[in-house]
Order: sequence, then C-alpha cells, then structure tokens
Amino acid sequence: MELNENARVDTSQVDDRRGSGGGGGLGGIPIPLGGGRGGIVGIIVAVLVALVGGGFGLNAMTGGGDGTEQGDNTSLAQKCSAEDALKQLDCRNTLYVNSIQAYWRTALPEVFGEQYQASKTVFFSQGVNTGCGQADSGVGPFYCPADDLVYIDLTFYQQLADQLGAKGEFAQPYVLAHEYGHHVQDLLGTEAQMRRQQQRDPNNANALSVKLELQADCYAGAWAKNATGTADEKGQKIFTSITEQDIAQAIDTAEKIGDDAIQQRSGRPVNPDEFTHGTSEQRRQWFTKGYDTGDPKSCDTFNGSL
Ligand SMILES: [Zn+2]
Repeated sequence: MELNENARVDTSQVDDRRGSGGGGGLGGIPIPLGGGRGGIVGIIVAVLVALVGGGFGLNAMTGGGDGTEQGDNTSLAQKCSAEDALKQLDCRNTLYVNSIQAYWRTALPEVFGEQYQASKTVFFSQGVNTGCGQADSGVGPFYCPADDLVYIDLTFYQQLADQLGAKGEFAQPYVLAHEYGHHVQDLLGTEAQMRRQQQRDPNNANALSVKLELQADCYAGAWAKNATGTADEKGQKIFTSITEQDIAQAIDTAEKIGDDAIQQRSGRPVNPDEFTHGTSEQRRQWFTKGYDTGDPKSCDTFNGSL
C-alpha cells in the first residue's frame, strides 16, 4: 500500500480528544469491531445483555450528556500538514477516514440513492464520553448510532498486533472502513431495523447482530476495492497503490477477530450461540465478497444464508 504524499490530510473529519478524558453518557448501543469477553473487545458483554433484553450496561443508562464535547484539532492539523505527515499514525488514519468517506459520498447516492452524511472519527485515549455512554479503550473501536460518530483509541492497533498478531498496516483502514460500514447502515436505516427485529425476536438477537457485522465487513471490502479511486478535495488521489498483500492483511485481521477465534484465544469453549460478529470464516468470506464485487449491493447479509 502506498499513500500519495501530495494528498491533503483533512483533519476536519476527525475530532482529536486525546488527553481530554471522558464523562457520563446515555442511550444507544455502541457497535464494537469484534466480540469477546474482557480485554480488547470487552464491552460486548454489556452490549449482549442489553441486546437480549436484560437492560444493563451502557444501554440501560438514561439522561446525561450527549457526547458533543469537542476536542482540539489544532496540533493535529499542524502535524498533518507537515512534510512527513504520512509517517505519523494519526495523520495516516485521518487520511484513511478521508478516503472511506470520499468513497461513500459517491457510492451511497449511486448504489442506494441516498445522500451521504459525513461522520467524524473521534480519536481518544483511555476513556471517552459518547452519545452511547462512557467508553474506555478496552472496548476497541466502535460506532455510536446515537451521535453518529466513530470512536477509536489508536493504541488499539498495537494491541491488534501484539495480542492478536494482526500486524499489517492495512488492518488500520480495514478497521475504520468496518466502523464506517456501521455509519452507512445507520444512514440507510438498516441498523434501526435490525434493532427492532431483535426486540421482536430476542432469541435471534445474536444471529441478527452477526448479519449486521458481516455486512459492515462486506462494506469495508467494497471500499477497499474502490479505494484507489478516492481523492482529496483537490482531486489528488489518496492511495497510489493497494496490493494483494494489503488485502491479505485485511482478511487476516478479519479472521483474527472472528468470534470463534476470540473465544478460543480466551480459553473458552467455542459457543456459536454467543457469536455476535461472525466466525473467522464468515468474516473472511464477507470482506472478500465486498472486495471481489466492489459493490455494496452484494452485501445483503440479511437475506439468504450467511
Ligand atoms: Zn462492527
């Protein structure tokens, strides 16, 4: 993968709240990247209980903040306009966000006849106050439908490399593209529809969650296929190349955060009833489907078998 050094990093698409801490929050269900208990993707336990009707954790919180606190982007904007900007993890990630949103700005009207509405990515460290409640880094990256924002503590990538062995750089845009996939589902009403289905059919809540997650993986694949066609505001290409190896890294990451892989790694017996994000095999398959077709319409996980 090669980024275009001449592409402008648009830091207005992120909200840098690192170092600002976090407070209380309210309602909505955050959608993390991978399922599992404890550590890297721990919040899923609270989310699971909420989804199956127990009303616990973040989802049970009412009232409180609206997650509208703003970070200070000044130093990030400075850093990312410097010559060596693309050597910096946060600037590269901002550029990935730029590419993903540039893709959907075109694809959403083209493919689904809907206007794309931009969503910022919040960079935070340790804890953050969101429209879905107070979250800490242990949850991994997530999308919050209540405030339409993607949240990530960038140290997550180090965990991904150290704890899961997903080391490639392309794991990063894959992660972000998956989260923006949830934003797209939010814009299309897919997410809200799925929540209503879960309420009507609580026994199938986890299976429905898997469909939503695999669709986000497929959307990430569709972005990856089209990413070399994305450009900054001035029309400068963002990526000069994406290789087979990059795609292999994204697939490797998708496999490593499969529910069965996470359960195995935590030493628990593999229990399909607890799956919320799909198996390694399913995650690989759906990312690949999005990539091979390059068409988000092909990501119809809700009809037919997975
Ligand atoms: Zn997800």
